[in-house]
This record gives sequence, structure tokens and C-alpha cells, in this order.
Amino acid sequence: MAVRFGPSPAKSAVRHLLTSPQFTAILPAALLLAFWAGGEKALVISAIVFPGLFALGGMLTRTSSKDRWPEDPVTGLPLRERLVKMLDAGFHDPDMKEKCCLAVEVDAFPQLAEHYGLDAQDKIEAQLGETLRSMLRATDLICSLGRGRFGIAIDRTTRADLEVVLQISTRLQSAISTPIELDETRLHLTASVGFALPRRAPEATGESLLQAAESALQNAQVAGPGSIRAFSNGMAPRAAPSEHSEAELSEALETGQMIPWFQPQVCLRTGRLTGMEALVRWNHPDLGLIAPAAFLPALTQAGLLERLSEVMLYECLTSICKWDQLGLEVPSVSLNMTAEELSNPKLFEKIRWDLDRFDVSPERLTLEILESVIAQGEDDVIARNINALARMGCNIDLDDFGTGHASIAHIRRFNLNRIKIDRSFVTHVDTDKNQQNMISAILTMARQLEIGVLAEGVETHGEYTKLGELGCTDVQGYAVAKPMPMDATSLWIKNHRSTSDRIHHIPKHA
Ligand code: C2E
Ligand code: CA
Ligand code: CA
Repeated sequence: MAVRFGPSPAKSAVRHLLTSPQFTAILPAALLLAFWAGGEKALVISAIVFPGLFALGGMLTRTSSKDRWPEDPVTGLPLRERLVKMLDAGFHDPDMKEKCCLAVEVDAFPQLAEHYGLDAQDKIEAQLGETLRSMLRATDLICSLGRGRFGIAIDRTTRADLEVVLQISTRLQSAISTPIELDETRLHLTASVGFALPRRAPEATGESLLQAAESALQNAQVAGPGSIRAFSNGMAPRAAPSEHSEAELSEALETGQMIPWFQPQVCLRTGRLTGMEALVRWNHPDLGLIAPAAFLPALTQAGLLERLSEVMLYECLTSICKWDQLGLEVPSVSLNMTAEELSNPKLFEKIRWDLDRFDVSPERLTLEILESVIAQGEDDVIARNINALARMGCNIDLDDFGTGHASIAHIRRFNLNRIKIDRSFVTHVDTDKNQQNMISAILTMARQLEIGVLAEGVETHGEYTKLGELGCTDVQGYAVAKPMPMDATSLWIKNHRSTSDRIHHIPKHA
């Protein structure tokens, strides 16, 4: 089915050319040239022909009434229905290219009206609509989706479409962040962008593609202002609201109330410390220490996860430098990364920059990625981030292994350092034959893939010993040490070093 709408691109181009300000600007120059070259006669002829051409051009190519679409009164841009039609045409009209869809929204747009009034908000929206429109090509389409939100359709390119759309998203963001003068004030706005590539749309319809872009936008907003997200299947809906306000959480992050505690990971054969997992704790001024389960959903809901990972990365790198100064050997620190954080196209650059700033080599940093995240296996941005970080030299550990349905193909796709066997397989491994069979199967697979294995949640000496017998390489859990604050780590490391140097009590695996 062919879907038709608006003037054709060729008609638009002629209309643009003949009615553009540039065309009218060359008119006096053309008349002068005609007079200089051909005298009065030529002047008279051109004086009639040029304006005639201008007027005719406008008339001949004028949009007919059936071409007109309803417009947004503030921005003058067409509305949602036109965008959906164009996206539809990308799927179904053989004369049209497939379209990628972007949804762009000015962050904290409603607050603009609160602070500066409705008129100012309208003015800003109109100006931004015009700015964005001027950055697009004649074949692209921008529509108003209301309340500071714009929907854009662009042609899909034949290759590297993800890269191209990411670049466009970044350019649109920086155009919006150019300061706006408003009376005496200079406004610095940011925008979040969600986009969907046509092959990722749940259905091959314009509505589905636009909804996908909007759901990616929602995810970008959850991650924090100025974020970009690509749509991937199964994108999680927003978490339920919580009792901690955004302001309270934000203040906690900015005033050092959110701190990492560290839990040691040790090599079973040598007993040596191989790394520390950083686990966030909220040192609440009234409520005392709060575990992550009690505030991570609220943090996610408030769009502060990205800020949390920045704070945690900063704290971890600071800790590494401190251990180095004290002569304490901590080979690597593990950071937990959620799908939201990994979906940030700027993540790799951010981590590289921070490592550089602290002069810490990449292999000192391990990123723990949930099995369920790589099991999705589809999100190109996540895969791109993980691969880039691994190539740089960071270690990638697969967290909660056994709970997330990752296939061997998914595991092979990434250059993994270790898999972390979830506690549910480790509990009672010393006495439960089923648990032993499960662990043995995982270890066999890991050996074939040449990946290390860390068992987590090892609570008892019996479990610890059995895991060594089965051939597990690393362990973490209360049997080794509970998570501890930075201050307590030096003493633990010193004690552990002297003990593990003296005792080799772990049997070698068969
Ligand atoms: P996880 O990554 O699976 O971390 C392991 C959890 O098991 C930690 O809980 C740890 O304290 C606990 N644990 C360690 N050894 C044992 C043991 O022997 N027995 C038992 N029963 N538990 C043990 P925690 O610190 O409450 O963290 C819970 C989850 O919160 C983490 O699970 C992780 O998914 C998330 N999380 C923690 N810190 C961060 C962070 O900085 N960023 C993000 N995005 N998530 C974090
Ligand atoms: Ca973890
Ligand atoms: Ca885990």
C-alpha cells in the first residue's frame, strides 16, 4: 500500500530554491550584470523575467490545500499524525527510504513555565523548534509532540546507522544546549534523546516506531538529563515511585552520603586477594546506613543512576590510589553496572577520561554486568560499550550467572574475564549433590570458553572448601569477608596477606 502525504521532496526543493531569501538576494546583482553585459534592453528583459520567475515559482509549487497538515500553534511544526504517516511510508512505500525515528525532549521543560512564565516557555519552544528544523535535511521531517518534545524522522543509511543516529542525537543535543538569552538571564538547557531504528521497531508501523523512540526517550530521562538511549526490545518500564524524594537522593549523592563499601574477592588456589567489589551504601544522616535494595529503585526512578556510577567510579579510583600509596596490593576494583548505565553512549569516554585523570590503568577496573543484560544481546549501544571497555583493558565480569538465561553465543560475543556464579547455586554446595552438579557443569563450560569463575555468596568454610575441590578459581562471600568501609580495608588486607602467605590450605582441584 502506497502512503502519500505532503509535497514530494523534488517539489519542495524547487519551491525552496525559487522562494528562498538567497534567490531574492541575487536579484539586484543579476540586474546589474545584465545591464553591464547587454545594456538597457537586457536590463528591461531581466527586470521582467527574474521577479516573474520568483512569483511563478512560488505559485506553481505552492502547497495545495490537500498537502496541508495541522500545525502546532507555538512552533508552527506539523503534529504527531504527520510524523506517523512518514514513518509508515518508510516501511511500506517503495519510493521512500526506511526511516529512523528520534524523540527529543528539553529536560525540565515544565519548570521553564514555572520560572519564566508561559510566554517565555512558548518563545523558547518555538526557537528550539526552528533551531532543530534548520539542522535537518529537506528529506527529514520534524514535528512537535507537545510540551518541549519533538519527533524527527530521518532516512536510514545503508551502513552504521547506529553511529549516524548517535552523532545526529549528539548534534541536536548540543544545539539545544547553546545558551538562550531571556531578558537578563542566560538559559542553559539540556535535552534527552531516545531513538529507534526501523529494524528494532516491535512492529513495522509508524506508530510502533514512534512509540519505540518515545520509550527510549523515557529511559534516557530515567538515566538523567542530557542522556541518549537507543530502543531495544524489552526496555523496562519506569519503576514505581518511592518514599525518598529526588531532592533528598540528589543531595545524598552530592554531599558524599553515598559511599562504596568493599568486599574482597580471593583466588582459591593461592588465597591471594584478586579484587574488591564496590557495593554502595547510603550513610543517611538520620537513618544510618541503608543497603542498596532500599534505595536503588528510587534512584533509578529519579534518573540518578548515571550520577551514582560517576560517584562510585570516582570513589573507587580514589581508593585505588590510596591503596597504592599505602603499598597494599589490590589488583582490581569491581563496579556494578546496570543496563541503564551501560546504555549511555558516552559511558566509554567517561570511564577512559576518569582512568586517565587518576592515572590508573584500565585493568585495575572491573565492570560487573548482569547476565540478564547480556542475555538481551540486542542493544547495540550496550554491546559497543562493553566491547570498547574490554578492548581498552578493563575486565568484564558476568554477574548473577545462572539467573539471566544468557546463551553460550551471548557469552562468546563478549570478551569476558570471569563469570560470577550466583549465590543460589553456591548455597549448600558442600552437602547438596544437585548444587555440585550445577557448579560442575558451569565450570566445564567456563573451562571450554577459557573464562575464569568466581563463586559469590560463599558463606561457610564447607562451601569454600568444596568449591576449591570442584575447580572454582575465585570466591567472594561472608566466609572470606563481609563488605567493609574503606577505613577497615587496610587492616583486613594486611592480616589476610600474612595469613595467606603462611597457609595454603585449599586443595588443588582434580
Ligand atoms: P550483587 O552485585 O549481586 O552484590 C552481592 C550482594 O550480596 C551484596 O549485597 C553483598 O553484600 C551480598 N553478599 C556478599 N556476600 C554474601 C554472602 O556470603 N551471603 C549473602 N547472603 N550475601 C552476600 P548488597 O551490597 O546489599 O548489594 C545488593 C545489590 O545491589 C548488588 O547485588 C547489586 O546488584 C546492587 N548494587 C550494589 N552496589 C551497587 C552500585 O554501586 N551500583 C549499582 N548499579 N548496583 C549496585
Ligand atoms: Ca555484583
Ligand atoms: Ca551478584
